Amino acid sequence: MIAQAPVPMRCAGRPTLGGLVIPWITLHAGGRYLFGALDKARRDLALAERLCQVCGQSFDERICLAVRPADVHAGYTAEPGMHPECLAYSVRACPMLSGEVTRYRVTSASSGLPGVAEADDGPRAGRPADAFDAWWITPRSYGVKTDREHPGQLLGIDLDVPVLRKRLIRPAAGPDPDSLLALARQALGLEDPAPSCLYQPDGASQPHNTVKESE
Ligand SMILES: [Zn+2]
Repeated sequence: MIAQAPVPMRCAGRPTLGGLVIPWITLHAGGRYLFGALDKARRDLALAERLCQVCGQSFDERICLAVRPADVHAGYTAEPGMHPECLAYSVRACPMLSGEVTRYRVTSASSGLPGVAEADDGPRAGRPADAFDAWWITPRSYGVKTDREHPGQLLGIDLDVPVLRKRLIRPAAGPDPDSLLALARQALGLEDPAPSCLYQPDGASQPHNTVKESE
């Protein structure tokens, strides 16, 4: 269980689940929130209107981004920015950013649901977690990249900009034998996929699986 992190004032009005603030861009489908699944319309709105993905409010003088090495390579991050205090909260509340989980989910929390932002998780499914850095940029440096072939499609926030400050959020996780074995078993149809969402919105406890989390 994640230790309860102090909720930023900005998020005081946000709904919570199990004591955790539900980010503004979290998909709400089928009468429940799906942690880890992004509402594509809200993601695009946040990118275009310069809104924080956690609280949904406009930015002030500083914008924080959670950036992976692959994002730097691509030149953009697909996820909207955050207020510094909203990022600080996310780092404690989100098991991926906190380093609690060491691999990506094998299946998406939103697989099969309409209106979900595809965050190109496919190739990452089940793989060891990437490193994440926190970047601080100014509103002046904020720009959104669009797909050249599909101009209306927003790729994410441009990373080829001046950065005020960078700080490691979490290191990359190395591959562990148990994860590889579990993936192989699943590929062979020997077991069900790992739980798709770490937080079950209905309050059910997290199912156990055969994958051991490494330190
Ligand atoms: Zn915020």
